[in-house]
Parts: sequence; structure tokens; C-alpha cells
Amino acid sequence: MNLPPSSSPDAPRAGRIIQNVFSIAVLLATLFTAFSPRLFSGDFGVTLLALMTPQPVSDVSVPPGRQAVRIGIVAGHWGNGEDRGAVCENGTAEVDVNYAIASLAAQMLEAQGYTVDLLQEFDPRLEGYRAAALVSIHNDTCADLGPEATGYKVAAAVGSRDSNLSDRLVACLYDRYGSATGLPFHPSSITRDMTEYHAFDEMDPATTAAIIETGFLRLDYDILTSRKGVVAQGVVNGILCFLNNESVQSPPSP
Ligand SMILES: [Zn+2]
Repeated sequence: MNLPPSSSPDAPRAGRIIQNVFSIAVLLATLFTAFSPRLFSGDFGVTLLALMTPQPVSDVSVPPGRQAVRIGIVAGHWGNGEDRGAVCENGTAEVDVNYAIASLAAQMLEAQGYTVDLLQEFDPRLEGYRAAALVSIHNDTCADLGPEATGYKVAAAVGSRDSNLSDRLVACLYDRYGSATGLPFHPSSITRDMTEYHAFDEMDPATTAAIIETGFLRLDYDILTSRKGVVAQGVVNGILCFLNNESVQSPPSP
């Protein structure tokens, strides 16, 4: 470095310059030491390296736009006072089985990024309800109706505004729920309680809706209560089939 000698008239200023240069040199030396590879050993180094390494996009990342897709799940009989639906001799009530399945299905859909409303049987929100899909979950009697009383059924509203869409939702639920659970389809027990389900009249006519009875509380008791994750997944798969426009076979007519 070509600096003026310290004995010059500018000595005090030169001294300050030397001091400043020295300070900068010390600072630079410290910084270089700090960023030497030695730092990249130990936990902090691992953390820092991880932060500096581009991470692969996680599988659980939500595709944009899913939050805008609203899905309604009705837990049958839930919040309807004394009405608990079918009740078994051991005290198990349909409303509790419905709620367990419905809330699990809602969680699964929320985990995939959808906006989900878990609704009571006569939820005030059902009035004019708008969603991409509305599915009501019920179960059939605990009474002993013989060996035939097993399986599930799905129905759309009689006179849905867009029967193509509601037929598709029914077909998706029929196909995917049957595949996931292995339960038989039981179309002969579809009643007017299902096809003329009250929520179908209350909701916005543009909402596509269906009702599923996921099983009979007597013969299907085990899967409905002990393996409700499988049952909920079957419902979720049916809804996703509908939303994603997946190809599907129509259910056999009753
Ligand atoms: Zn019911």
C-alpha cells in the first residue's frame, strides 16, 4: 500500500485512514473466516446447508384454485334434537356413526385443499347452499332384517336441475365407495326419504347433491364403527371422482 509517511503534516488524517483500512481488513478477515467450510460442520452447518439447498416441491402442496372449490358434507341427524336416527340395542346411534364418518371425510378433503362445510341435518346454511357438491351421509337400520340387510345405496334428488351432473355424482359415489369398502350395492332399499331428501329442496338448484347410506348398522356394524377411515375414504374418493370428472360406470338400476 502506498500511504503517506506518518511524519507528514497530514499525519493525524493518515493515521485515521490507516486505522480505517485496518478495521476493514479485520472485518473482511472475520467474514472470510465465518464463511469458511469449518462452519458447515455440526448442526448449524447442516441447517444452513439445508436452507441454501433448493428443496423438492412437497407432495402435500395444494394445487392453486382448490380452495375455491366448496364441498358440503351433511352428518345425517346431527344437531336435530332428540332425533338420533337408527339406534342399536347396544346404544350405538346412527347420528354418531354418521358424524364420525362425515367429519373424517371433511378432514380428508380439507387436507387436499378444498373448502369443506360439515353441516347439521337441518343446518341453516343449507338454505340456498351453493357448492360444487353436497353429500349427505346416513346409515340404515340396526333391526334384524335377515342376511340381505348389508351394503350401501346412493341417490340423487328426484327432478335435479341438472340430472347429468347428479347422475355422475351418484355413479362416482356408487363406484368408488364400493371399491374402497368392498360392501355390496343395495339399491332395493332406496326409499323416498332418500330421493326426496329435504336438503335437496333447500339448497341452491345449481348445487349437485346426493345422499349415501354407507351401510346397515347391524350386519355392517364392524366396518362402520371400527374401520370408519375406509368408509370415509370411499365417500371422499367418490366426491373426488365427480370433481375431477373421472370416468366411471353407472350403477345398475334398482
Ligand atoms: Zn338416517
